Amino acid sequence: WKRLTQGLTRTASSLSTGITDLFTKRRLDATTLDDLEDILIRADLGVETATRIAEAVGKGRYDKTIEPEEVRALVAAEIETVLKPVAHPIVFAADVKPFVLLMVGVNGSGKTTTIGKLAATLHAQGKKVVLAAGDTFRAAAIEQLKVWADRTGASVVSREPGADAAGVAFDALQKARADGADVLIIDTAGRLQNRAELMAELEKIVRVIKKQQPDAPHAVVLTLDATVGQNALSQVEAFKRVAGVTGLVMTKLDGTARGGILVAIAARYGLPVHLIGVGEGVDDLQPFEARDFARAIVG
Ligand code: GDP
Repeated sequence: WKRLTQGLTRTASSLSTGITDLFTKRRLDATTLDDLEDILIRADLGVETATRIAEAVGKGRYDKTIEPEEVRALVAAEIETVLKPVAHPIVFAADVKPFVLLMVGVNGSGKTTTIGKLAATLHAQGKKVVLAAGDTFRAAAIEQLKVWADRTGASVVSREPGADAAGVAFDALQKARADGADVLIIDTAGRLQNRAELMAELEKIVRVIKKQQPDAPHAVVLTLDATVGQNALSQVEAFKRVAGVTGLVMTKLDGTARGGILVAIAARYGLPVHLIGVGEGVDDLQPFEARDFARAIVG
C-alpha cells in the first residue's frame, strides 16, 4: 500500500488538489460538476468515465455544500466500480504444462522487467520457468533477459541478435516441454512503427508454438507505459489487432500524473489488468487491486 500510494503520488496530487480547490467553500451545482469533469478528463480518465463520475457525485447532492474529502471518496468509489471487473491476476493453470505466456508491447514499455518479476514470483512458488529471448532485434534485450534468468533461477533460450524470433520461441517451447517446465514466457520485439512486420512476426511465433502445443499461447499480455497517456489507447488497439491481447500490465505509474489512463482503458476495453508498475525495483511490480488503486489515485 505504501509503495502504491508513493508511486501514484503525482496522479493523486493532481486529482486531489483539483478537487480540493474546486469544492472548498463552493456549492455543488452544474458548474462545479462541469469543472470536476474537466479535472477528471485532464487526469486522462476519459470523457465517458469523467461524465459518469460527475453524474454519480452530483446525484441527490445539488445545491448542497460538500466537503472535498467526501467528493474524493465518491470519485474513488466510482473509479473502483469501473476497475473492479478488470482486476484479475494471471491465472497459471496448474493442469496446463507448460503454460505459455507471450509478452508483447512497444520497446521500453517494461516487458523485460515484467518478465523478470514474473519469473521471480513463479520461481518462489516452486515453479520451473523457461524464458525465450524473442526480442532478437536488440542485443541488450537478450542480455537483460539472461541477467533476469540468472537472478531468478529460470533458464533462458536465446539465439544471436537478428535471428528469427519464431525460431527462438520454437526452441524454447521444445526445451520447456523436454524439461517439464511449468511456465514458458516469451519476450518479443515491440516495433510498432512497422506494424505489418510486427504482425507477421507475432503471427509466425504463434504459428510455430501451435505446431507443438495447439492450445498455446495461454496468455498474451500487453505491457503499457503509463507516461504515454492517451497514446496507450492506440497501443491497445494495435496490439489487440495484431496479437489478440488477453490482459494488460501498466508500468511507470510512478513517473507520471497520467495514471488515470488505466481507468480510461478499463472502461473502454474491459481487458483484464494483471499487474501495475510503480517503480523500477522488482517489488514495485504489484498485483492490481481495484479498491487500492482507486483510493491511491484520488489521494
Ligand atoms: P522493454 O523494452 O519493454 O523490455 O522495457 P524494459 O523492461 O527494459 O523497461 C524499460 C525501462 O523502464 C527500464 O529502465 C526499467 O527499469 C523501467 N521501468 C520498468 N517498469 C517501471 C516502472 O514501473 N516504473 C519506473 N519508474 N520505471 C520502470
